[in-house]
Amino acid sequence: MSQAVEQAVEQAVEKGTLYVISAPSGAGKTSLVAEMLRNDGQLGVSISHTTRAMRAGEQNGVNYHFVDRTEFEAMIARGDFLEHADVFGNYYGTSHIWVRETLARGQDVILEIDWQGAAQVRRLMPECVCIFIVPPSPEVLRERLVGRGTDAPDVVERRLAEAREECRHAVEFDFLVVNDDFATALADLLAIVRAQRLRMTVQQTRHRELLAGLSGPAL
Ligand code: 5GP
Repeated sequence: MSQAVEQAVEQAVEKGTLYVISAPSGAGKTSLVAEMLRNDGQLGVSISHTTRAMRAGEQNGVNYHFVDRTEFEAMIARGDFLEHADVFGNYYGTSHIWVRETLARGQDVILEIDWQGAAQVRRLMPECVCIFIVPPSPEVLRERLVGRGTDAPDVVERRLAEAREECRHAVEFDFLVVNDDFATALADLLAIVRAQRLRMTVQQTRHRELLAGLSGPAL
């Protein structure tokens, strides 16, 4: 098969869209993504691998695949990751097999990852759609990160510094969603997904026969 034909065949296969969603912690990203999944059966979320300790209420294989550093480093060496990053002292990574297989089946995939991972994915898969979520003001972010005020001041300051660092990269993304009102932010996210599905490059594949019929000789 010539390269041009191979490319045409590749393009004719229905493929899912890859969404990369990043946010500073406290922006409500995880709750918004969970609600997106409940609202849209065509969306799936990738479960990352991490070396960080499991938090109360988390489950291995549901929130993350929890592994130790040796196992994570072996996975890096094997080339198992689409992207991986050291996020504030812990490794996090996205396995590329699940992502590629799911997209190839025509299902849309969400990656909830940090800005470093987003940059790596953009380089490898430039067609991905990158969304950044922010809280409505620095004061609200501070309130959400300080929480019930039970954490030591240095822990709170570290969290704020990490959030600022993440926000510095917001402009590298395609879309910005402000999570002031949860329902509005959710509607914005679902609107991005809906608009993406209406893009000509996506519709052309889905409605190949319709377009051929409408413009063919039989009309
Ligand atoms: P947390 O430990 O609070 O669940 O997540 C901390 C940060 O790691 C968040 O910004 C989250 O988006 C990011 N993160 C989670 N999974 C991945 C991943 O697979 N790759 C990258 N690069 N970042 C991730």
